[in-house]
Formats: sequence, structure tokens, C-alpha cells
Amino acid sequence: MEFDYLALGSGIAGLTFAINAAPHGSVAILTKKQRSESNTNYAQGGIAAAIGSDDSWELHLQDTLSAGAGLCDREAVEVLVKNGPRLVQWLIELGAQFDRNPDGSLALGREGGHSRNRIIHAADHTGYEIERTLLIAARKTPHITILEHYQALDLILEDGVCTGVQVLDTLTGDVFEIRAKAVLLATGGCGQVYLHTSNPLIATGDGIGMAWRAGAVIANMEFIQFHPTTLYHTDAPSFLISEAVRGEGGILRRIDGYRFMPDYDPRAELAPRDIVARAIDAELKKTGDPHVYLDITHLDAEFIKRRFPTIYQTCLQYGIDITREPIPVVPAAHYTCGGVWTDLDGRTTIPRLYACGEVAYTGVHGANRLASNSLLEALVFAERAALHATTRLEEPPPQPKPSCITIALPPVTPAPQVADHAYNWDASRLQIRKVMQKKVGIVRTTQRLQEARCELESLTAQVEAAYRALPPTVESCEVRNLAACALLITHSALARKESRGLHYVLDYPNTRPELATCPTLVYPA
Ligand SMILES: Cc1cc2nc3c(=O)[nH]c(=O)nc-3n(C[C@H](O)[C@H](O)[C@H](O)COP(=O)(O)OP(=O)(O)OC[C@H]3O[C@@H](n4cnc5c(N)ncnc54)[C@H](O)[C@@H]3O)c2cc1C
Repeated sequence: MEFDYLALGSGIAGLTFAINAAPHGSVAILTKKQRSESNTNYAQGGIAAAIGSDDSWELHLQDTLSAGAGLCDREAVEVLVKNGPRLVQWLIELGAQFDRNPDGSLALGREGGHSRNRIIHAADHTGYEIERTLLIAARKTPHITILEHYQALDLILEDGVCTGVQVLDTLTGDVFEIRAKAVLLATGGCGQVYLHTSNPLIATGDGIGMAWRAGAVIANMEFIQFHPTTLYHTDAPSFLISEAVRGEGGILRRIDGYRFMPDYDPRAELAPRDIVARAIDAELKKTGDPHVYLDITHLDAEFIKRRFPTIYQTCLQYGIDITREPIPVVPAAHYTCGGVWTDLDGRTTIPRLYACGEVAYTGVHGANRLASNSLLEALVFAERAALHATTRLEEPPPQPKPSCITIALPPVTPAPQVADHAYNWDASRLQIRKVMQKKVGIVRTTQRLQEARCELESLTAQVEAAYRALPPTVESCEVRNLAACALLITHSALARKESRGLHYVLDYPNTRPELATCPTLVYPA
């Protein structure tokens, strides 16, 4: 198969790129499950844009920079916030139905870290509404072909130029190539690398793994945002308990009933996300308990049902009546702030390879993502990537500015012990996720990171050997990419010898001002 443009992923980034590229040639969107299955589809809160009468792009810029703890790329943030209002309007023109005030103006919500009301939302299913809108628009746009159940395995490079991808048809097991003039990675983040995550199963960091194997520069992988409260239940993966529950008076308790948050911060349960996540993590490590409780049983039952209908119903489905009993919760990996390094046009360091959305590092999020900036980032940079790919494809690829935190990582050498007929991919997946949760989680120490690196290096070598020895499958491809992401996160975390934003290391508890302009860059050795 051959197309002019090939987008890997059918979330907000892939669809936006495709719709913008289609007037210039044929576009294929490749997606490994059915088309709507993406992180985008599960986004709840909304999309940030400075459109209120009391708001401005300058204020949105300031809020983003301060959330990013000094590590944002100011130029990238400017591009983000200046283009936000126009692109939200574009979504509305495509048919997105966002909540409105009685006078017809857009209803703007407020989230942590925003100094103004600027969250455009569709109840608590904004991502679903955006995905729905973009899928309809893509269907109506000539020249777009959506290929479902096709999993990208690896990028094809000829003389260092990306010319296509190797693909697995997940229904038949056939492996073939798709060629294109330009390829976009829009494969999302790698939340599944942790045992507890709010991300759906697709979030296995495939794009980051593929780009790294192809020799692209990867940046800031140590910055993983953890959401403090997701439901802890063996049958309920990936369910977020909104921060609004704490906002309405929810109390965090240990299993023995002790309310611990006042010990950590005077704002107690209302402290920022990263502080609450760290406190829960510390309590779990101290007690050895599998979870803590979020308790709202002291609130009026009717109020709870009215205010949190989805949370009430979902928990009830798992046998927890939140009006009568506390909710078991754990912090969970939520957002990958780093990724494949790109310039402001979504270009990676490999000619004709672009990356947008959660798979990419644009510099927008720095050391911590401001809530609701990620859907916006995907929208803004996917449009720019499409513009570049369709008009200036021949330009030589960009390179990042030199940074004082640089790692040269050699490609994975397969272990000599080769699996010849079978390999337990599930066991390796679980092992990676456990190591990451335990040793590369919310609160890090150099010793635990070094142990993790050692375990992951050996595991990655085994996984690589088995991958090469056996026909590719969905599982083998995903585990290989999870292993790559785990290694990249761990190496990056070891290289940053300070605490900043989401990266908190007990051995280096302070922020070092001289590292504020230094993203962590991983180059191929
Ligand atoms: C529960 C939850 C709530 C969130 N709430 C918000 C919010 O309120 N506001 C906000 O701004 N952000 C929110 N986020 C984050 C936001 O949803 C994501 O960052 C964003 O949707 C990422 O979009 P994307 O297009 O980059 O990737 P995704 O939407 O994740 O799409 C990735 C696509 O790539 C495909 N894919 C992956 N690997 C392969 C492969 N090997 N081959 C082929 N296809 C592949 C997937 O199937 C999928 O189609 C939330 C995330 C979660 C999980």
C-alpha cells in the first residue's frame, strides 16, 4: 500500500493531522484497535483555551509556565496558547457540542493551576465529544482512508529517511509494508508501563519505542504525571475518581481510618495533584497497604448521586456504594509529559517523520502538565505538522539545542538465550509494570532507579531476543515498546539529579536553577 501521508493513531492528533493534510493528497490513518479507541476518547475535564472576556493568551502562558516548574519551552507554549481559541472554534465549526451558558456563550470551567475559567467541556466526556466530531469530519473528508486493526511495528528508513512502516494486520497475523511521503506518529502516551494507570490498554508507548529504535531523539521521559485517585479494584482498570470529589469535601484515609493529608500539607486533601499523589505513595510504602480510601460518606447521599452520577454508578457496578462506604483508591500514571523530540512543526530528528500529541515532546509541558493542555497541544501541533508536511517536506530535519542533560543510549542487544517457539509476554508485561510502579514511581531514589535499570536492561534484552525469534503479535509488539519506554524513563530519571515538577528524587530533594533550561535528551549511541 502507498499513500502520500500516513498517520499512526486515530486520536485527536492523528485525526487533526489527517483532516488538514487531505486537501493535498491521499492520507491513511492506521489504528491498532477500532477507530475510537484512544486516550482522547476517555478525556473527561476538557480543553483549555483563553477565550473568556477576563482572559488572555498571556495569562494562559503564565499558568502553563508556572505549572511546568521552569522547564517549559516558552516559544512552544506561546504557539500553544495563541492558537488555542482559533482551534477550539474549528472544532465547534466541525460540529463539536460543548456546554454553554443560558445566554449561549461557552461555559468555561476552572481547573487546578488555571488563574481564569478557560476549560471548554462537554459534561464529563469532552474527549468522547471531540473524538466523535473528528471521526465524522474525517469520514466526510475525501482522500482519507482509516485502516482499523492494523498495528505499526517499526518504521522503515531508507538512507536515514522515513519512508513508511512495517504493519501487522491484527486480525490475520499478516505483516506488510505501507509507504508514504511523510509519516506521523500520533500513537499517544505510555501509561500502561505502570501497574496502576488511568490510561486505556492502547497506551503502550508504541510510537516512542518505534522512534527510539529508528534513532530519533527522545526527551524528558522522566516526567510522568500521576493522578492521585483512581479506583482500586481488580475488575475495574482505568477508572478515574475526579479531583472534584476532594473538592467537594472528600477525605483521604488509610485503611486503619487515619486521615493523613494534614500531616503533609496545610491544604490537606485540597493540595495540588502531585503533593497528594506523593503523600498517598508515602503512606502506601509505610503501611504496605494496597490502597487508601477516599471517603465522602459524610456528604448527603442525594447530593453525591446528583453531583457525581458517573462515579456513583461505576463504583456501584463494582459493589461499592460511595454514599455508604469509602472508595478504595491508588495514584495512577496519567500522562506522559516527554516523548519523541519535535520542533514547533511536529518534525522529529528523522527526515519525513513527524510526531504530535502525547507521543511527542514539544516543550509545552516542561516538568508538569497544566490540566487540559494536552488535548490542546495535540490539536495545535497536529495542524502545524500537516501544514509543514504538505508544503515544506524537503527541508532538512531539525536538531534540539544542546542540553546539559544528555544520554547516549545504545540499541538493545538481544539476549543470547533465544525463545524458539513460545514466550510468556504477559509475564514480562507484568514484570515491567511492577518494576516501574515500585521503583520508578512517584517518589524515587537513586538506589531504586539503579535496581530498576538493571532489571529492565536484562528484561529488555530477553524481550528483544524473543521478538526477533517469533512472528510478531499484538502482545509481543506492545511488550517490546513498553520495555523500551520503561528503560527510557528510568535512564532519564537517573540522569536528572534534582527534583523538579513531577520528578521527585529523595537523594536530590532540591531544584537546581542551572538545570531549568535543560530538557533530558536521549540520543542513540
Ligand atoms: C482518563 C483520562 C482523562 C483525561 N482527561 C483529559 C482532559 O480532561 N483534558 C486534556 O487535555 N487531556 C486529558 N487527558 C489526556 C488526553 O486525553 C491525551 O493526552 C490525548 O487524548 C492524547 O491524544 P493523542 O491523539 O496524542 O493520542 P490517543 O488519543 O491516545 O490516540 C492514540 C492512537 O494511536 C493508536 N495506536 C497506538 N499504538 C499504535 C500502533 N502501534 N499502531 C497503530 N495505532 C496505534 C491508538 O489505537 C489510538 O488510536 C486524559 C487522559 C485520560 C486517560
